[in-house]
Amino acid sequence: MTHRIPPASFKAEILTIGDELLKGSVLNTNAEFLGKNLTGLGFCVSRQTSCRDQIDEIKINLRGALERSNLVIMSGGLGPTPDDLTRDAVAGYFNVPLKFSSSQYAQIKHHYRRHGYSVPPLVKREALYPEKSVPLINKHGIALGFYLRSLNGKLLVVLPGVPAELQNMFRELVIPLIRKYFRALSVRPSLVAKMVGISEPDVMERLGKGFFRDQFDFGIYPQAGEVSIRLYADKKLILHRLESIIRKGLSSWLYALEDISLSECVGRILKKRRQTLAVAESCTGGFLSAEITKNPGASDYFVGALTAYQNRIKEKHLGVSKIVIKKKGAVSAQTAREMACGVRTQMNSTYGIGITGIAGPGGGTRTKSVGLVYIAIATPKRSFVSGHQFWGDRQQVQIKAVKKALEFLWREIH
Ligand code: ATP
Ligand code: MG
Repeated sequence: MTHRIPPASFKAEILTIGDELLKGSVLNTNAEFLGKNLTGLGFCVSRQTSCRDQIDEIKINLRGALERSNLVIMSGGLGPTPDDLTRDAVAGYFNVPLKFSSSQYAQIKHHYRRHGYSVPPLVKREALYPEKSVPLINKHGIALGFYLRSLNGKLLVVLPGVPAELQNMFRELVIPLIRKYFRALSVRPSLVAKMVGISEPDVMERLGKGFFRDQFDFGIYPQAGEVSIRLYADKKLILHRLESIIRKGLSSWLYALEDISLSECVGRILKKRRQTLAVAESCTGGFLSAEITKNPGASDYFVGALTAYQNRIKEKHLGVSKIVIKKKGAVSAQTAREMACGVRTQMNSTYGIGITGIAGPGGGTRTKSVGLVYIAIATPKRSFVSGHQFWGDRQQVQIKAVKKALEFLWREIH
């Protein structure tokens, strides 16, 4: 279920350019970044369009976007090669010539020299911008961005396609610009609730009909092992009422009332408690460690991990007993428990997690089918283990196992 688009007074559109986006060879992460950030700034993001590197297509889409919306952000097609046509298309649309920015060219030369290369003549193109627009100097790369106010007061911002450059320029240059041109922009009060270990229908049931008494926009989003709710209301008072219902009815699953991941939440708790974690992974192959170390500062609480795929590694480095593996199997509650206890001891951490299972598609047997995963937690006082039959493909089984392991640790420490 998705919420209705917040009736913000300013509409924004995102226009991403590039053949590679349409062919599916590059994931359109710029649209995701811009959508999230423009919504956060208070815009109603009403459309995302992607089009090929073709002048006429860019112009047609630009026209539509400028007719419909107050703000249009374009990205991509600002490269140095002749197939990068965004700047020519925008100049053509506004019927103006291209100008050369010597400031950006100085930046381009600096960029190449710093990396020990000479400046290829082709990249001079990257310092061009349509007359009447204002250059946005790209300190993070070579392609110049630019913006302009159209005759009817719309704002058009054009940014490079390289995600890191786009993101930095958006934060440093575009946000101040937006605040200047859209002074009346107001952020609608909103609330995020993040839950783990509960399904979407169960969340709805627990909220009950009374929850929907007032007027507000409601969105519920299920992900592997998790559910999040996002609410927008015109009055803070309404959100307070909704928050207290969520807190009461869903406290056993609610891990955050802000937009953070479960691993981030667990990390914060561990850090606050000055406790540490080590993990031993078999079927998840390092996914759990990767999830934990996505968060900056993880070294404060994350000691390390061992991807113990083969039995001899489980035995030699984690102290899992040969007999347990022989009698119960590598995928068993006992092995998971010994992995958790072993890694906790070996790495001298407060908590240890052990995961062993069959991620598939092969490897299932009559008694142990694909998707069977055992997850164990070792604490200073005890250890516990649980078995799960996850469904889905290999990656889904791995993701669900990682989420479940984090959920168990969260339940233990929060
Ligand atoms: P290329 O010639 O590699 O397509 P370019 O010279 O056309 O690059 P851009 O179009 O600005 O310059 O793209 C630069 C890089 O950013 C490319 O690797 C491209 O795949 C990537 N990119 C462009 N648009 C997006 C997007 N919307 N989301 C994610 N990555 C993108
Ligand atoms: Mg391109």
